[in-house]
Amino acid sequence: MVKIERLRTVDIISKKRDGESLSKAEIDFFIDGYVKGQIPDYQAAALLMAIYLKGMDSRETADLTMAMVESGDRVDLTAIKGIKVDKHSTGGVGDTTTLIVAPLVAACGVPVAKMSGRGLGHTGGTLDKLESIPGFRTELSKADFIAAVNKVGLAVIGQSKGLVPADSLLYALRDVTATVASLPLIASSIMSKKIAAGAGGLVLDVKTGSGAFMETREDAFDLAREMVKIGERLAMNTTAIITDMNQPLGLAVGNALEVKEAISILRGLGEEGPLKAVSLLLAAHMIYTGAGCTTIDEGKAMAKDALESGRGLDKLAEMIRVQGGDARVVDDISLLPQAKHIMPVTADMEGYIASIDTEMVGTVASILGAGRTRKDQKIDPAVGLVLKKRLGDKVKKGEELALFHLNDRDRFDQAQDLFKRAIRIGAKASGPCPLVYGTVTREGEKHFS
Ligand code: URA
Ligand code: CA
Repeated sequence: MVKIERLRTVDIISKKRDGESLSKAEIDFFIDGYVKGQIPDYQAAALLMAIYLKGMDSRETADLTMAMVESGDRVDLTAIKGIKVDKHSTGGVGDTTTLIVAPLVAACGVPVAKMSGRGLGHTGGTLDKLESIPGFRTELSKADFIAAVNKVGLAVIGQSKGLVPADSLLYALRDVTATVASLPLIASSIMSKKIAAGAGGLVLDVKTGSGAFMETREDAFDLAREMVKIGERLAMNTTAIITDMNQPLGLAVGNALEVKEAISILRGLGEEGPLKAVSLLLAAHMIYTGAGCTTIDEGKAMAKDALESGRGLDKLAEMIRVQGGDARVVDDISLLPQAKHIMPVTADMEGYIASIDTEMVGTVASILGAGRTRKDQKIDPAVGLVLKKRLGDKVKKGEELALFHLNDRDRFDQAQDLFKRAIRIGAKASGPCPLVYGTVTREGEKHFS
């Protein structure tokens, strides 16, 4: 007689605790049971910690990803012609690339149907930034979303509630059980959402440095490899670019402030710095992944031309209009929310900017009111900070390091104290900080520095 073995959660936990691989059936049983409320939080938490400590192999991570996808709905984007290419950043500070990249890619003929998230911890979120534009709607029906992409070439909306419920539940549990920074858990969390959102191709911006979840370069490459492998197993062409997050990507940190910076870059007026460089690189890879060009170099030239000709800016205006926002903001950024007070923070000593704790800078913006410490908190779209100095810059005593934009003066002292702790001024100039460390694609890896 065939013995029928019933799966038990406690056996799955002990198996992972002892470092063994879980079968697809065991992974499916856990995700399904947890989402249905049949497996309690304490067992799920124990399994998450076992996964955090013992890891998962590529097959397990892919099985976990698919089990998560199957926990909810999937978006069908077949009504949009062409290869739908999505992008995702693993989370950064002053990282407003989506607002620059999506219009550039759309201007080059590759459709962008993007679902974005809100800020998480010290990192900002595209939805919060877009909602600082008067009237802009991030909740569109599926039909309106598809119609907007077919009309404009791009639309950016919030992730619908039914998508990957397993991730919403697991993420909240990870947040309070010190299990966020786990490679298989991050990889499955990100990739399940992209697969469920119907992407045909994906470009990942994997951050490393003081403001990233993966602080070391080795960890960032490992995460990139794992996500590219999942993409390959699940037929979603995935490219990862490993980029620096040892300082905020743009100069602005805060919602409307970042929208203003994105607009100024699309107008050709912004800083010739990391935000513009990474945006052009991501755009090139997206155009390539979407079969809009035949080489990355051609994609780079196309993205640059879309920016310099103003076609990217026009696309952004069109998207804002179709999603109900006031498109005049692209010509007049004073129509965006403005903070009541702008207060400088100055250097206490002379020297060079030796290091920036970027996570702390993100927290400073949160203290000023730009982020949340609880899910249900309201953010203030107008507030945040604008850096006046970058890594390696020389500073004189009393010179401005940043301008704080705030509505509540009482928050200044606490924010200033933390900001000064985040910026280390040293006596000697350090070497230049690399911006792009390498790429991982299904064809292989490149390391740039
Ligand atoms: N972003 C996600 O979507 N999930 C993670 O686990 C980490 C970053
Ligand atoms: Ca950190």
